[in-house]
Amino acid sequence: MAKRRSSKSGAAGKKVRVAFRANRQTSGRDHTWTRQWEEHGFDEIDPAAGESVRAKGSQSRKRTVVEQADGQIGRGSETTRDGTVVAMRGLIADVDDGTSTWPCTIRRVLRTQRIDERGAITVGDRVRFTCVSEKESVERQGVIESIRPRRGVLRRIVGKKVHTIAANVDQALIVSAADMPAPKPHLIDRYLVAALEGELMPVVVINKADLDAEGVGAAIVRRYSDLGYPSLLVSAETGDGIDGLRKRLADRTSVLVGQSGVGKSALLNAVEPGLRCRTGPISEALGKGRHTTTTARFLPLKEGGFVVDTPGIRTLALPPMKLGEIEAYFVEFVDRLRDCRYPNCAHVKEDDCAIRAAVEAGEIHRDRYNSYLRMLAEG
Ligand code: GDP
Ligand code: ZN
Repeated sequence: MAKRRSSKSGAAGKKVRVAFRANRQTSGRDHTWTRQWEEHGFDEIDPAAGESVRAKGSQSRKRTVVEQADGQIGRGSETTRDGTVVAMRGLIADVDDGTSTWPCTIRRVLRTQRIDERGAITVGDRVRFTCVSEKESVERQGVIESIRPRRGVLRRIVGKKVHTIAANVDQALIVSAADMPAPKPHLIDRYLVAALEGELMPVVVINKADLDAEGVGAAIVRRYSDLGYPSLLVSAETGDGIDGLRKRLADRTSVLVGQSGVGKSALLNAVEPGLRCRTGPISEALGKGRHTTTTARFLPLKEGGFVVDTPGIRTLALPPMKLGEIEAYFVEFVDRLRDCRYPNCAHVKEDDCAIRAAVEAGEIHRDRYNSYLRMLAEG
């Protein structure tokens, strides 16, 4: 039973052979393999194919994947289900199948992949798992068989390694305060670039609207909504704008980032009191206080969607970027780049620089330009 593989769930899919890109010579065990799936957009990878993928040489140019028919897997007598990893406890993943939470172990073949990212599976991963014990009690257990390709990711740099804190996150709420503490535009831009780099939609949230007598917060909101990013001016204290924030969170997976003291906890509490205290019944029963979660958790929202709770981690990692990469994340720069005299213009001191001209003309906000310069200098 534990040996059963998802490929045996019959009608679920048919195997197809797919060519690797020819220029990959690394062992199939590293995360480039994962990239392959992502680039090709497959719904699912059959871990049974792991053996052939790990084979060296020309054999590894092809691998077997399972094409999913419609993602429909029977409940009850069927042994395979789809779910989302909502918490990690050591080597145990809590998987939410939409109805309840299943503690799952992870197939060895999956554990050995992506070792450079510390752990094959992370919170937010969409997985297929086999139910080993179906009892409606704490004895129920599953084994994760396969992981779907990831979309938006939350990363942290640990030494030289990239640690993926959470996967399949839709948006990053970049929270600042209108005052106390005063907003730091360069910090907003840094988070914004990090969010875009991780393929998360940045949402600019200015809290403490009740302290915005000077209109500083309102101006920032206007600046970013003019650039095309969703932006909100809210107050956890008075409740202003909280309905809009709740709508923004509904049916999406979000992470809140920002300096401490800006009101992230207060906002979550305003959106949904007690959100942080809720855990799945199974996790609770199993945990009995023994395994405290140290990694990110997905907190389910009443109106659908999740908020990612990342203990102690309130920043977004930004891998080092090369000159020419940073400018691509400044949306108002992009259309002007071709007007710089030099194709490799860094927009610092060069003559006939379209970016600097636009700053002088007031078409690009000076704060944004300063953020760009700072990121360029800090790397
Ligand atoms: P976090 O560190 O980002 O989670 O910030 P907290 O939620 O702990 O809030 C920091 C402080 O700001 C607390 O003293 C809150 O009472 C206060 N605060 C939060 N939201 C507001 C707001 O909308 N207006 C005002 N005036 N104070 C707020
Ligand atoms: Zn330039």
